Amino acid sequence: MFRRRLAVFLAASLLAFTPALGSSAAPNDQPSTYEISGTTQPQRTAIARMGIDIHAVHGQVMTVGVTPREANLLKVAGYRLTLVPPPSREELANKYHSYTETQQAVKDAVTKYPAIAQASSVGQSYEKRDIPILRLTGAGTGDKPEVLFNCNQHAREHLTAEMCLHIIDRYTSGYGSDAEITKMVDSRIIWIIPMVNPDGIEYDNAGGGQRGWRKNRQGPGTDLNRNWGFKWGCCGGSSGSTSSETYRGTAAFSAPETQVLRDFVNSRVVGGKQRITAHIDFHTYSELVLWPMGYTTADTTPEVNADQAKTFQTLGRNMAATNRYTPEQSSDLYITDGSIIDWMWATHKIWSYTFEMYPTGAAGGGFYPPASVIDRETARNDAAVAMMLSYADCVPRVIGKTC
Ligand SMILES: [Zn+2]
Repeated sequence: MFRRRLAVFLAASLLAFTPALGSSAAPNDQPSTYEISGTTQPQRTAIARMGIDIHAVHGQVMTVGVTPREANLLKVAGYRLTLVPPPSREELANKYHSYTETQQAVKDAVTKYPAIAQASSVGQSYEKRDIPILRLTGAGTGDKPEVLFNCNQHAREHLTAEMCLHIIDRYTSGYGSDAEITKMVDSRIIWIIPMVNPDGIEYDNAGGGQRGWRKNRQGPGTDLNRNWGFKWGCCGGSSGSTSSETYRGTAAFSAPETQVLRDFVNSRVVGGKQRITAHIDFHTYSELVLWPMGYTTADTTPEVNADQAKTFQTLGRNMAATNRYTPEQSSDLYITDGSIIDWMWATHKIWSYTFEMYPTGAAGGGFYPPASVIDRETARNDAAVAMMLSYADCVPRVIGKTC
């Protein structure tokens, strides 16, 4: 018993004074995927604060990518770790869109549907790649609420780009034939950004597409979804260590990719009013619908009053009922700070959600599921996307309020 306590104490001490657990491992210290069962929110937050690369959380099971050294530290600290064998990856090749193919898909949508689709660039990434954006809107005049869908802030989450491309395909090809789609395209302006992080995606794809790269390509890499400027670095929900997978950058908006996306969203304030009312930021994996705030476990905050919390919860649960994801406040997983959804809501009162797509765990392929699931897992969100669009004129309508 004493030995056990001593071991836990030593491990805790070691963790407390080890600031730089992260991905800058030696070549012989490559990460493997493990599941940690039976975790609570405080434990998950503690593990996140260690700088551990968290891949997914499903119920009490965390999936993490850790080096042998990190695995030992976690075991000594008393966590139950199970090694997940690497999935077979033969199906991956050439089915997921590269950056160039994604640019082409956006251009093709404009060529094929010039009456409703326009393409431009949000701005450039750190390595000077244009970040393409598609604007979709049809006939219909007057004040149109705007909805933003963005994908692939995190490079290795390739299924998300497919999700944005699926939305483009569905809302262009269905226009004029599907009544609900036609109504939404006519009455809304839909913005779609399939790849926020093209440098990271190109790096992850180089050499076979299995690097597990998450961040952008600025120096050691910044976690774009910890670089947003609301309560940046406030609360232990990101890392100051450059080697960490959740490195928050040198300052809020230090990453060119978050800067240009911020500037785009700011530019949608027209006549003193933010035109974008609703937003989904797609990630993988865990199968979750998440809402703000991430920086605190409190349901109501200075930014979110009781009606607003109820609105987030109700729409989140209603969307999750359609795709069978688990709905919860972002911080129910673990604390995050500097995330896009906290900024969207706190700065612009945009009803902003994170979707964590398929799978729930490493067994489904983790970040690299077989390409055979792309159609099924993107179509799985059709009803949720349609629901988000349908409430964009007045999201609090979902709890019976008027706007
Ligand atoms: Zn992500």
